[in-house]
Amino acid sequence: MIIEKKKSLKEYTTFKIGGPARFFCIVTNKDELIEAINFSKKSKLPFFILGKGSNILVSDDGFPGIAIKMEMKGITYMEDGNTVKVTVASGEDWDTLVKETVEKGFYGLENLSYIPGTVGASPVQNIGAYGSEVKDMIETVHVLDVLKDEYLDLSNEVCKFSYRNSIFKKDPRRYVVLSVTFILNKKGKLNYEYKDLKEYFTYKKIKEPNLEQVRDAIIEIRKKKLPDLRDCGSAGSFFKNVIVSATKAKELTTKYPEMIVHPLNDKKVKIPVAWILDNLCGFRGVKKGNVGTYKNQALVIINLGNATSAEVIALAQKMVDGVYEKTGIEIEPEVEYVI
Ligand code: NAP
Repeated sequence: MIIEKKKSLKEYTTFKIGGPARFFCIVTNKDELIEAINFSKKSKLPFFILGKGSNILVSDDGFPGIAIKMEMKGITYMEDGNTVKVTVASGEDWDTLVKETVEKGFYGLENLSYIPGTVGASPVQNIGAYGSEVKDMIETVHVLDVLKDEYLDLSNEVCKFSYRNSIFKKDPRRYVVLSVTFILNKKGKLNYEYKDLKEYFTYKKIKEPNLEQVRDAIIEIRKKKLPDLRDCGSAGSFFKNVIVSATKAKELTTKYPEMIVHPLNDKKVKIPVAWILDNLCGFRGVKKGNVGTYKNQALVIINLGNATSAEVIALAQKMVDGVYEKTGIEIEPEVEYVI
């Protein structure tokens, strides 16, 4: 394995922003991973795990340690009655996996279609979309525990998944995901209750869509809402949606009766941040220097050309302040800062 010096990270991110990593390597198997981690330990430099770079913002100064790009590959299927166990190496492309499982007629991952990134990144922020979260399909996450120098098979429960969160997100330097085992089904129930999906099928006059049609619908909807990465850089939704108390939601809907809210239970309510940014703060389709927000989705910050991470952070801070001023809510980035 080659450890390169001063490697620009810009091209390894979908934002197309960022300075060089002091060291950089690509790992394709466990031995190479151990070699890279040992290099980091011996040289007392931090490491960070890079997948497809679709959810990160790299500092203009770059990263002072070793960036480890995961390219371990391999997918195995084990069928047992109606269930299918799929074990997938962390470097596999997420959407290629979803496509393959849908084509095989296996239910479970379809609502998570067209999310950019690697399989290894999927449990980290417990990716979710259209009423489905990856935690619902994960059986085991196979990891290297960097602290204890041992391989572990972490059960779903141990991963402490919650909304866009897990132990991997809370403690990013502790575990490296090697592969993930998902449980899928040969017979399943499709969920197309989300507004955008329902409207799509009503418009297409499809009463009972099948697995492939749900995937196709999601791809079409997401393509409209997200910028084409060939036109401009972006890391998708820049901020997490927020969950507030029912009392806070009542206060907000009294002030802004048209506000969209999604009650989760008696006590908690989810609020789409895009709605606030767009309708209360006027942040959809804005431009500031080399950065802006996407014309179809205020939650998405875009690189209009040669943007710097400093410009992105400055715009993001304005958005945080704008939302706070209007609602008293402190929104948090979903995108990870690599500094
Ligand atoms: P959207 O469908 O307009 O929804 C915006 C927000 O409202 C999301 O927080 C969504 O919750 C919530 N919501 C909408 N309908 C709901 C319902 N029937 N019940 C409960 N909550 C509801 O969002 P979008 O920006 O176009 O994104 C489409 C989907 O992709 C969303 O599910 C979004 O969360 C997901 N997404 C995921 C990631 C990620 O995993 N990193 C990144 C970008 C977008 P949920 O978030 O629980 O769906």
